[in-house]
Amino acid sequence: MATDPNLRRERPEPVSGEGEFAFIDRLAERLPSPPAGQTWIGDDCAVLADGRLIATDLLVEGVHFRSAWADPVDIGFKALAVNLSDIAAMGGTPEAAVVAVALPTGRPGLADELLAGLMECAERFGCPLVGGDTSTGPDLFLAVTVTGTATTPVLRSGAGPGETVFVTGPLGAAAAALAHLEAGEPATTAVALHRPLPRLGEGRAATEAGATAMLDLSDGLAVDIRHIAKASGVGIELDPDRIPVAEGATLPQAVGGGDDYELCFTAPDPDRVRAAFERAGRREPSAIGVTITDGDVTFGDQPLEGGWEHRLR
Ligand code: ADP
Ligand code: MG
Repeated sequence: MATDPNLRRERPEPVSGEGEFAFIDRLAERLPSPPAGQTWIGDDCAVLADGRLIATDLLVEGVHFRSAWADPVDIGFKALAVNLSDIAAMGGTPEAAVVAVALPTGRPGLADELLAGLMECAERFGCPLVGGDTSTGPDLFLAVTVTGTATTPVLRSGAGPGETVFVTGPLGAAAAALAHLEAGEPATTAVALHRPLPRLGEGRAATEAGATAMLDLSDGLAVDIRHIAKASGVGIELDPDRIPVAEGATLPQAVGGGDDYELCFTAPDPDRVRAAFERAGRREPSAIGVTITDGDVTFGDQPLEGGWEHRLR
């Protein structure tokens, strides 16, 4: 998940420069291969037997949010919403959630407010909170784990050449809000940053439309699209003129900013995509590019740059 880029600037420069993705690649190499039909590390959710999905995402104070800017009810809502977004990214339906929370002392009412946001999200998206763990800690820390199911889970790895790349909605609103908050200005798009909506219906519509690869845009289009290219072994040509930029955001924020939680997917038949989304009563996704046989990810005639990655050292 993306974080506050301002905090990244305040941290010391990494010594070796290793980022989270290099660590995840090394970890993946050390894990045993999953049984046939299952997918473990490397996708938005792990797929277990019979299409059962499991995913976890963490929200840490000072890294993923600042309490000065975010209401605890919103923090609770977002902690579950970003996990449900990973279920959406597989074309899945949520089943249940557990929440582990570390609470700093001296903030009365915090636990109940977080819970109110979690419960609101759980009810809205039909994913009951069934348990968890509670501790004290130096900072607020929330880890949510969700389970779900998908009859045909859509992985990041299934894209072939000659397909269309789609996103389910306008991008950049969360990054625009963060930029305003950092500048001490009112953020008109703050709701996008604090209350992302998991695109569960869209994920299922994309699956019905024959989506071959899919993920949710948590770290920014520029970073996340490379996961599809790498996992699928395809190149991707993005068309800068077709990126849907959210009102109040700029094109660089739409491409490089994180926390959008729209879905990005590839599919061979754009007409089938339009029909499936119309049937599902969902906003028509935007076609933003095409997959090619090989090569990197390009943005117009430039290599694609930007996006978020946690630096580990
Ligand atoms: P997402 O943004 O969809 O939540 P991440 O980029 O956080 O995905 O993670 C990419 C992949 O690496 C996922 O499959 C996730 O399960 C796995 N992963 C990340 N961190 C760890 C870890 N510490 N241990 C095991 N797997 C991890
Ligand atoms: Mg994801």
